[in-house]
Amino acid sequence: MLSRDNINDILKQANVLLEGHFLLTSGKHSEKYLQCANIFRNTKYAEILSKELWERFKDIEVDLIVGPALGAVQMAYEVSRHFGVENFFTERNAEGKMFLGRSFEIKKGSKVLVVEDVITTGGSVREVIQVIKEQGGVVVGVGSIVDRTGEKVDFSVPLKSVITVDVEAFDPLNCPICKNSNRPLVKPGSRIFKK
Ligand SMILES: [Zn+2]
Repeated sequence: MLSRDNINDILKQANVLLEGHFLLTSGKHSEKYLQCANIFRNTKYAEILSKELWERFKDIEVDLIVGPALGAVQMAYEVSRHFGVENFFTERNAEGKMFLGRSFEIKKGSKVLVVEDVITTGGSVREVIQVIKEQGGVVVGVGSIVDRTGEKVDFSVPLKSVITVDVEAFDPLNCPICKNSNRPLVKPGSRIFKK
């Protein structure tokens, strides 16, 4: 398994973990920003990080990997490769309800690992767990690349992540980066993020 420093370096190289002075949608400022859509953009990083997640679950029996679309489609695929099992994804219907479509069918009693690239509130993961249970599957764990829950979320099954990231957000009036540096404030999503 890689060290936390190694994983941090990989996330920086992959342009997932950005450091600077960011204006968040909440209006607060932060020194870090996670651009999680970049994780699976490059197969090299996707493979390393997915293997890391597999390392954390390899001692339990897993028959199937399921992740919610769109964010975790690539992740379910990449993680399933390391387990040597199939992967499905759940979708939302027009009313926003999560469901398992296509010809995906979960065999009764299948041991399912739910994956999500980043877990913050765990809302989507709970919906995926519900869908799996309704189909007779048994959820054996939840895996994510980045855990931002701050250990406040309980899925009743083990949650394991490649890395936990705590992004501290500051009130603009009390922002240490504003006070102590000349770093320009940038809004994520603006042109600076397009390489
Ligand atoms: Zn600031």
